[in-house]
Amino acid sequence: MLGDDCRLLRTIDLVTKKRLSTHILPGDPPVEIALKRSHRATRFSLRVSRADGRVSLSLPVWAPETEALAFLRAREAWLRGHLAHALAVQSAQIGAWVPICGTPREVVAGQSRATRFRDGRIEVPDGPRAGPRIRALLAALARERLTQAAQLHAAKLGRDIGRITLRDPRSRWGSCTSKGDLMFSWRLIMAPSAVLDYVAAHEVAHLAEMNHSAAFWQVCQHLRPDYEIHRAWLKRHGATLLAWRFDTMQEPPSCK
Ligand SMILES: [Zn+2]
Repeated sequence: MLGDDCRLLRTIDLVTKKRLSTHILPGDPPVEIALKRSHRATRFSLRVSRADGRVSLSLPVWAPETEALAFLRAREAWLRGHLAHALAVQSAQIGAWVPICGTPREVVAGQSRATRFRDGRIEVPDGPRAGPRIRALLAALARERLTQAAQLHAAKLGRDIGRITLRDPRSRWGSCTSKGDLMFSWRLIMAPSAVLDYVAAHEVAHLAEMNHSAAFWQVCQHLRPDYEIHRAWLKRHGATLLAWRFDTMQEPPSCK
């Protein structure tokens, strides 16, 4: 116990000098925590990035090291549970079950050279590029659904939408410019349909209210009366959509 404490104190000393350092929480697996001393921080706050699972602890400049360490220890179980639940990286490959509109669908090796969604399964040509092919299929489905949803909501408001762009942002699900151009995350196609529809309604509502005022949320409610449930779903489960990876598989080195 004492040994641990000494090691931790050294790390914190380093923080005081550099303002930012890392601490390794021992265990299985060890968790790397970025320590950030900040003049603005008035209390300890432990955060897990939705985007990449990085953990950071902000602490006031005046905070005693021992308190910071006690704070970390008291939250270790919560932290490990949170990391295991929300940020287990899933790889979209043959044999995986990738959600489409909230329903997990099995990825199978198809007979044709096309990647398609057929009979409730995702068919993809066998090979190392299954991940990027599945991503392209999801993005195409997302474009179709999001365009349709945005157009329907815009018609309800009597407004026109501009261009629709799909991206893969890590910290937002959509955006709307003053010109009416909309951006969405194609990962929304993995969420339940009503959640995707809520995000479309949210961005379209910005055509009427370019802010998050009470008036804005009223427009959201008009377009999607149950929007709060879907907004809460994204807050709670959005990280699971971001945890999917669509990489090309590395070929094992060939031995000759
Ligand atoms: Zn907004």
